[in-house]
Amino acid sequence: MYKINENYLKLPGSYLFSTIGKKVGEYKTANPDKDIISLGIGDVTLALAPVVIQALHGAVDEMANAETFKGYAPDLGYEFLRSAIAKNDYKARGVDIDIDEIFISDGAKSDSGNIGDIFSNDNKIAVCDPVYPVYVDTNAMAGRTGDYVESTGKWSNVVYMPCTAETNFAPEIPKETPDIIYLCFPNNPTGSTITKTELQKWVDYALESGAIIIYDAAYEAYISEEDVPHSIYECEGAKKCAIEIRSFSKNAGFTGTRLGFTVIPKDIKSDGTMLNSLWARRHGTKFNGAPYIIQKAGAAIYSEEGKKQTKDMVAYYMNNAKMICEELKNAGYNVSGGINAPYIWLKTPDNMTSWEFFDRLLENANVVGTPGSGFGPSGEGYFRLTAFGSYENTKKALERIKNL
Ligand code: PLP
Repeated sequence: MYKINENYLKLPGSYLFSTIGKKVGEYKTANPDKDIISLGIGDVTLALAPVVIQALHGAVDEMANAETFKGYAPDLGYEFLRSAIAKNDYKARGVDIDIDEIFISDGAKSDSGNIGDIFSNDNKIAVCDPVYPVYVDTNAMAGRTGDYVESTGKWSNVVYMPCTAETNFAPEIPKETPDIIYLCFPNNPTGSTITKTELQKWVDYALESGAIIIYDAAYEAYISEEDVPHSIYECEGAKKCAIEIRSFSKNAGFTGTRLGFTVIPKDIKSDGTMLNSLWARRHGTKFNGAPYIIQKAGAAIYSEEGKKQTKDMVAYYMNNAKMICEELKNAGYNVSGGINAPYIWLKTPDNMTSWEFFDRLLENANVVGTPGSGFGPSGEGYFRLTAFGSYENTKKALERIKNL
């Protein structure tokens, strides 16, 4: 008689975005003539850059010819892409990463979820609160988080690191020492970042305590401030204690095209075992490789033209972010984020809960956002707006919010 993984049964009810979808769907059915604008999407909306489209066409043509056809991709990914990453994402910032420390994947969501495979279930994880829900949910699926406690919105065996207005939306070193620390900067949903000096403290703490940091840098391209690190490896010692996860989704629009990578330096060892080897084994066994066509498209963003075009895409979204921050501040809202990230973190007015504000925005302004409580208990009383919409819709949505 087969048995299921009962850890899945412990996951709370419905996923945040399906609850939002249901609420918006019901409102639309009852009000078919209303023009609803979403400032809640975590997805990009601009088309892929011309260099990417050109590379895709070129790679398809290669597949059409037996001489240039490509079958299974190398386990770690094609060398042309790993070399471009090592050179442009790391070397250019003074960081030496070997190409066999880079693992090409189908995106940061998969990697941040799957990385748990190489760790024992005895590890205790620590997460920022609020944060991208994938870290906790995938650890819950693995059976590492204890039980979900409805009344607190927390798992019994997770160290939560509150990121509140008092801490400038950054985590503080926890009192209880965890084994695996998930950090995400720039952060989803708060849009917050930490300086290199602050990040160095986390690296030092991991080295002293024997913990490992899983650093999600999916929004690295949005960093505009000088003292904010683009990679955790800019910190001394990080190559001994940190895994970094990156994505092509938010910098180059690959949310539907799918491409990302994880860096596992060979210096990270547990009792002499290289984590790099474990992940290579896992990658080779459980992952079929990102398609050649997609890896070619990814490499195109590192050409001079590609860099310019993707920079323009990020600038477009960040212009929206700036507009959201300015207009809402002028209207008396308390906002943060939006400077190094496409996310704006809004304190709900009139002491409303996150979901009460969601309903008010949907019903009175026909604008959809994301309740902060969906990202962790410390997100209650906050609301996430995103800059990924069109300039015109963002402007229209802001007019409506200002007139609430
Ligand atoms: N990491 C963070 C913090 C995210 O917010 C997201 C998507 O919203 C991802 C990873 C997913 O990235 P990808 O599209 O590469 O799977």
